[in-house]
Formats: sequence, C-alpha cells, structure tokens
Amino acid sequence: MWHAEYRLYLYPVVRDKPISASALKTALQAIEFISEPLESNNADRYKVGEAFLSLICFMGCSPNIESEPQENSPFCYVEITQESVETYFIAGHNVKKINCHHCKEPQSKLAKNLLEANQQSLLTQKCSVCGECIDPSKINWRKSAFTARSWVLIGNIYESEAVPDEKLLSTLKQVSGCEWEYAYVRMK
Ligand SMILES: [Zn+2]
Repeated sequence: MWHAEYRLYLYPVVRDKPISASALKTALQAIEFISEPLESNNADRYKVGEAFLSLICFMGCSPNIESEPQENSPFCYVEITQESVETYFIAGHNVKKINCHHCKEPQSKLAKNLLEANQQSLLTQKCSVCGECIDPSKINWRKSAFTARSWVLIGNIYESEAVPDEKLLSTLKQVSGCEWEYAYVRMK
C-alpha cells in the first residue's frame, strides 16, 4: 500500500477529545468529501469524493490532482483515524522552529523529544530554559505539528499547496462539537 510522503492533517483543537470515526465518515460522505473505502485491508482509507476539489482549496490555478487510486505512485486519498484512547503527537521532517509557551525562548529539541515520547512523557516535557512543563497543544507549531486523539489525513497534499474550505471545517465542527485546525506534515 502506498503512503503519501506529503500530508495535510485536519485535527480537533481540543487535544484529548475522542471523536467517533464512523460519525466523521458519515458526515464526510454526506458532503462528498470522500466516497467509498479504498482497500479491504485498511478500512480507514477512502477515495476522494465528487466535491473534494471544492472542499480543499488549491492555491495554484490548475492543480494536478490524481484522484484515482494508483498502485505505487502518488494520488490523493483520505484517511479517518479510529479514535484512540491515547493522545498522539504528529509531526514530520518539516516541523517548524518553536518557542516555549511560557518564556518564549527557542526549543530546539522539543519536537524530537515529543516524537520519541511515550504517553506519559508526552505531557511532561520541560522547557530547557525556564523549566516549566510544556503543553504541546499550547505551542504555536505554525501548521507543522499537533497533538490529538482523532484526525483526518489527506494524502498527497504539499505544504501550503491547499487549505481546507470553511464548509469542510464547519462540517467537522458539527460532528465533534469543537473547532478544527490543519497542519502539513512531510514524512521524509
Ligand atoms: Zn520556557
């Protein structure tokens, strides 16, 4: 199975909120953001729906989107993660330089530490300057990382190439009862 190197993630701003994956699926199918499941061995992955290009706004004038599933080459797909009991920190090689949310000093190793952290240490990392406990959801990652228990992944979207439309975000808000944000993650 091909996994996109460039990803756009949509996630609820309430870090530890579990959101029913089947409720997300129903709502996203209703607005035709997604259509049918793509693979029998990965029930979370969907083919993009008829309205995909109106719910994701591409910045360029003629986006070159492959929406048909390919064997081993890039195409757009959507994954809806099953709500997890654990909170995950999601980031990739494009993670931005960030600052402590207490003292505002730069935190050069924080993202690496969070990516390597287990569930306990995810929320107990300390600032290397002021020593205060870091809450990853309070850091301004500038759309390059997030912490969540549920999310929606859109495969094969380059960083800042496209943004979710208001209708997509408001649909997610209706399902979950909280606001949603987005982030770009590069896996390699
Ligand atoms: Zn600090």
